[in-house]
Order: sequence, then C-alpha cells, then structure tokens
Amino acid sequence: MTHPCLSCGACCATFRVAFHWAEAQPDNPDGPPAELVVPLRRHELAMRGTESAPTRCVALAGTVGVDGHCSIYALRPSPCRALVPAWEDGQPSPQCDKARVAHGLEPLTPDTWRTIAAPG
Ligand code: SF4
Ligand code: SF4
Repeated sequence: MTHPCLSCGACCATFRVAFHWAEAQPDNPDGPPAELVVPLRRHELAMRGTESAPTRCVALAGTVGVDGHCSIYALRPSPCRALVPAWEDGQPSPQCDKARVAHGLEPLTPDTWRTIAAPG
C-alpha cells in the first residue's frame, strides 16, 4: 500500500488553509506560488479555493478518496505540514479523522501503517 495521503486529499477539501503572507512566493521561494493564494485577512493569505465553501484547494489534484493528492507538496504552507495523518507517528489526528469522515472515508488506524511498504 502507498502512503494514504496519496489516495485521499480529504483535508484539502475540508479546511480553510490560512497562513502569514510571507510564507508564499515571491517572498518565500519555497512557499506556495502567488497565483495559488488569495488575500484573507490583514497579514494573512489562504490557499485559493479554501477561503470559502465549498472548500477545495486549487493545488489538490485528483479525486478525494481515490487519487487525491497535493500537486505542490514540496511547496505546501505550514498548516498543511502541521496536519499529520492519524497514527503515522503513533498519535491520533482529529483533523485527519474529521476530514476523512466528512468525505465518507474511514479514519486511519494504527493498522493502516503496518501495511505500508518501507521505502526502498
Ligand atoms: S485527511 Fe488525513 S489521510 Fe487524508 S490527505 Fe489529509 S492527512 Fe492525509
Ligand atoms: S497546498 Fe496541498 S496539502 Fe495544502 S491544502 Fe492545498 S492541496 Fe492540500
């Protein structure tokens, strides 16, 4: 089995993704491209598509629960990096669970990670 986030994307179609403007390009070359973000509040940007309902980040590729995945993974902003999939590091993740359930997917379990092949 591959990493579950590569066939999910539920969180990217559930939550507003807001962050400080300095995280995005051009100020931060390692951040989301400027055309993929929108102004939200003073000092804050949001990933385009997450600023209002229905929520779907513009950088989300594929179909949620099938092949949904982040198309700018290496450039994703801090809220996306902070949302850890449930049990990947042995801890629950209420946001991951909430997003998956909202899209009709079963929450991840510790068993999910036992079936993932080790890299290499
Ligand atoms: S909801 Fe959980 S499993 Fe799905 S993409 Fe987000 S972190 Fe990964
Ligand atoms: S930037 Fe990537 S990880 Fe973050 S919400 Fe958008 S698609 Fe998901």
